[in-house]
Amino acid sequence: MDCLFCRIAAGAVPVPALYQDEQVYAFLDIAPQAPVHFLVIPKLHVQSLAHTAREHTALLGHMLAVAAELAAREGLLDGFRTVINSGEDGGQTIDHLHLHVLGGRPMGWPPG
Ligand code: AMP
Ligand code: ZN
Repeated sequence: MDCLFCRIAAGAVPVPALYQDEQVYAFLDIAPQAPVHFLVIPKLHVQSLAHTAREHTALLGHMLAVAAELAAREGLLDGFRTVINSGEDGGQTIDHLHLHVLGGRPMGWPPG
């Protein structure tokens, strides 16, 4: 399959892991939008959040729990933002589900 994030999760593209286990891979975003910006992705290819169903409940919960753990590990003690862009209107550019974690500055609202 020609999916960049599948290749990253499989270790076929040398992107250092912040964390990985059987289910997820986390790594720094290549174009950070904040002082700390990393992604948590499932190793399973799922196109977007819109392509998940109840069978993915445990995986989605695990992605969030890992995001919180890594946010603390990366020193985001004053807070952070989690974002999942879904589909064209959601601004998704990589068609493999990914959770953004951004922090290290006040993130503001609404997002720019
Ligand atoms: P989205 O716009 O929500 O689909 O986010 C895709 C994200 O993937 C963007 O923030 C990109 O900067 C990031 N990205 C694309 N290619 C890479 C890569 N090779 N390594 C790390 N992050 C990447
Ligand atoms: Zn994929």
